[in-house]
Amino acid sequence: MAKVQGDIIIDIQKCKGCELCIDSCPEETLSLSGKINQKGYQYAIIVNQTCTGCANCALVCPEAIITVYRKVEKKQVVTKTA
Ligand code: SF4
Ligand code: SF4
Repeated sequence: MAKVQGDIIIDIQKCKGCELCIDSCPEETLSLSGKINQKGYQYAIIVNQTCTGCANCALVCPEAIITVYRKVEKKQVVTKTA
């Protein structure tokens, strides 16, 4: 079975800290940073390497600043030799 791994990139300087992406993530991949960006908002960051690339976060982000990448890892096929 192929396993899907995801990764996201957040344009943190445009983030408004609304937390919609954090609430929408089923994998608890995201959280708010303790720091603020140039606009004065706390911004979303990746805190767990659990992303599956489901894209929920990108769909709900009102600023459309999340890009999602998906990588499918094919299971290695082991063949027996006599
Ligand atoms: S793509 Fe899905 S799993 Fe990955 S951070 Fe966004 S909501 Fe979470
Ligand atoms: S949904 Fe978008 S604007 Fe809101 S916290 Fe997440 S990345 Fe920032």
